[in-house]
Amino acid sequence: MLRPPITRSSSRSLTLSARAAALQPSLTLAIAAKAKSLKSEGKDICSLSAGEPDFDTPPFIRQAAAAALEAGQTRYGPAAGEPALREAIAAKLSHENQVPTAAAQVLVTNGGKQALYNLFQVLLGPGDELLLPAPYWLSYPEIAKLAGASVRLIPSSAAEGFRLDPERLEAAITPASKLLVLNSPGNPTGMVLSRAELEAVAEVLRRHPQVAVVCDEIYEFLLAPGHQHHSFAAVAPDLSDRVFTVNGFAKGWAMTGWRIGWLAGPSEVVKAAIALQSQSTSNVCSFAQHGALAAISGPRDCVRTMAAQFSERRTRLSDGLRRIAGLELLPPEGAFYAFPDVSRTGLDSMTFCNRLLDEQGLAVVPGVAFGDDRCIRLSCAAATGTIDDGLLRLERFIAGL
Ligand code: GLU
Repeated sequence: MLRPPITRSSSRSLTLSARAAALQPSLTLAIAAKAKSLKSEGKDICSLSAGEPDFDTPPFIRQAAAAALEAGQTRYGPAAGEPALREAIAAKLSHENQVPTAAAQVLVTNGGKQALYNLFQVLLGPGDELLLPAPYWLSYPEIAKLAGASVRLIPSSAAEGFRLDPERLEAAITPASKLLVLNSPGNPTGMVLSRAELEAVAEVLRRHPQVAVVCDEIYEFLLAPGHQHHSFAAVAPDLSDRVFTVNGFAKGWAMTGWRIGWLAGPSEVVKAAIALQSQSTSNVCSFAQHGALAAISGPRDCVRTMAAQFSERRTRLSDGLRRIAGLELLPPEGAFYAFPDVSRTGLDSMTFCNRLLDEQGLAVVPGVAFGDDRCIRLSCAAATGTIDDGLLRLERFIAGL
């Protein structure tokens, strides 16, 4: 049946849902895209913005995906993920992270972000609170608000070492608190929660049985020397019926564009997340999952080699930043960011970053997006030449203020 064309006036009358109207687009992605587009216009731009490994995905992973594509792995698969990949993720969690996990407790998602999105959608709703240690990765509050929940921040400052204070955590908990986010190694601060710190968190949560935990472990392989990653579920096995783990292939295996992550945890909730995924995106790209299967089942040499290079770059960025007068930096313990305090310049973080891009062509992310307007975030997931160039531009900018 022919329908009358939609007129301009009728499309103008469309209004967004309250949910969409309140949503902030991801600033990390927006700044990275802006830097790329300025570069493609021929501008002299240096980007230390998005946390994206500059390495190519290791060849054996690409080959496995290509072989699966050639072999005709091009049809719908189970919404929860390829059974072999769910098994392999469960085995990784059980043996590498000491978190006993069955395949039925695993959902393969379109990146870590969708794992968080699905979990928040099935656990949180209006009247529920997300407990969020700050500074935080900027997508957590937006994903919680999309689920209708409110966000209660647990602040920490650079002066306090950006540590999660158990007393402050306990003081923030209310009867409406439903889910606590732990992100270690953390974005943007690079702080790594020690075993003792995780034990202190567990001690608090034992007194508040209504609070579940989601551990975002996407940076688990990226650690500065002397630091170790601990999965919360392994530190507090008695809480395993309310602990979720989110992780993915993007950072460790240099697979950002593949969009493959996972959610693991109590099976009733994971089952609900699978149902949600079956009604929203169906399965994750089938042949990409075969690449991910090769990655997770293969040796960790490639992961270790890249992590070692990120460690060198992290040190290079931290040392360089600490030499710049006017900045203060807590050296990151993991991930691939530095989060220096630039408040002595007298500029708020958004003004600082806008001027830095306009005047020196350096793209970094303002701390206000992560809940700390005194800081800026620089990524060291870039070649050493780019890091050195970025440091020079930053130094010139601050010296010229
Ligand atoms: N998580 C990375 C970052 O914070 C990638 C971009 C994003 O998803 O926000 O830079």
